[in-house]
Amino acid sequence: MSDVTVIGLGEMGSALARAFLRSGLRTTVWNRSAAKAAGLVAAGGDLAPDAASAVAASPVTVICVSDYAAADAILNDAVVAALAGRTLVQLSTGTPREARALAARMEARDVRCLDGAILAWPRQIGGDEAVIVASGPQAVFEDAEPLLRRLAGGVIRQGVDPGAAAALFAAVLAYLAGHWIGFAHGALVAGSEGLDLAAFGETLAGLAPSLGADSRHMAAVIADDRFAEPESALATAGADVARLVQQAQDAGIGDAWPRFAADLFRRAVAAGHGAEEHVAIVKVMG
Ligand code: NAP
Repeated sequence: MSDVTVIGLGEMGSALARAFLRSGLRTTVWNRSAAKAAGLVAAGGDLAPDAASAVAASPVTVICVSDYAAADAILNDAVVAALAGRTLVQLSTGTPREARALAARMEARDVRCLDGAILAWPRQIGGDEAVIVASGPQAVFEDAEPLLRRLAGGVIRQGVDPGAAAALFAAVLAYLAGHWIGFAHGALVAGSEGLDLAAFGETLAGLAPSLGADSRHMAAVIADDRFAEPESALATAGADVARLVQQAQDAGIGDAWPRFAADLFRRAVAAGHGAEEHVAIVKVMG
């Protein structure tokens, strides 16, 4: 028996298996394309000949593949039968509905199942910056938590609903999508005006604590319906964002992102929310 099995050895699955091995756990691995296991076997991992043997080798299996369709393709009848009475920690990204469906299928076959989402890059796995959100039965979480802590400094329990971890991941990803697109447009602005891109990155890194505090503030404003006490009104921010369209056109760079953002602010002002908090744009997005 090994301590843990990892199924899926892409960028993320390999990082998970490496972290388990580094922390001294006997680790069995399996991947559809066996060649990806070579480095892990050299580092002390045991390569199983097939997925059913892989899950039979450990009390806990972590699966991390592209999506739930890939996980379903691996978790065929023979594999699920071999998992009965054992624990499956599902860390592939998916929707809350997919997570709930998998959990129901596993529960019906006597598999203890925890669904999780990884908020980290592969290089962060095993370190303090990595965060894993997990949801499912309390007892399964408590059993799996020591393993998850070998992968991530931050382990967040998101309740018993198996879809809750995927739901939080979706909310965070929505934020990150704006972060990535916003950074890319900012880089175009900086480039078009001859600014140093590294300095742009450093400026944002310096703002990180304040952006974190703003996230807390926006959550409280929406939850407590405190839109009416703005420090700076939505109309003011909307005018600033509209100016980004002008800058893009003046500089000859793409204006798709600022036009999209300016349109949301314009709609919120037109709907009468101009004197409210910025995040009142949520009222025209639902
Ligand atoms: P990846 O490098 O593209 O690896 C994909 C993995 O899925 C490989 O092991 C691949 O096997 C397997 N796979 C895909 N389709 C399959 C199928 N039909 N049957 C069997 N195996 C299949 O992706 P990754 O970066 O490791 O991401 C894995 C999961 O982690 C994703 O859900 C992703 O959203 C999540 N995640 C990734 C990151 C990141 O930065 N990479 C961050 C957070 C979360 P083969 O090698 O045989 O193709």
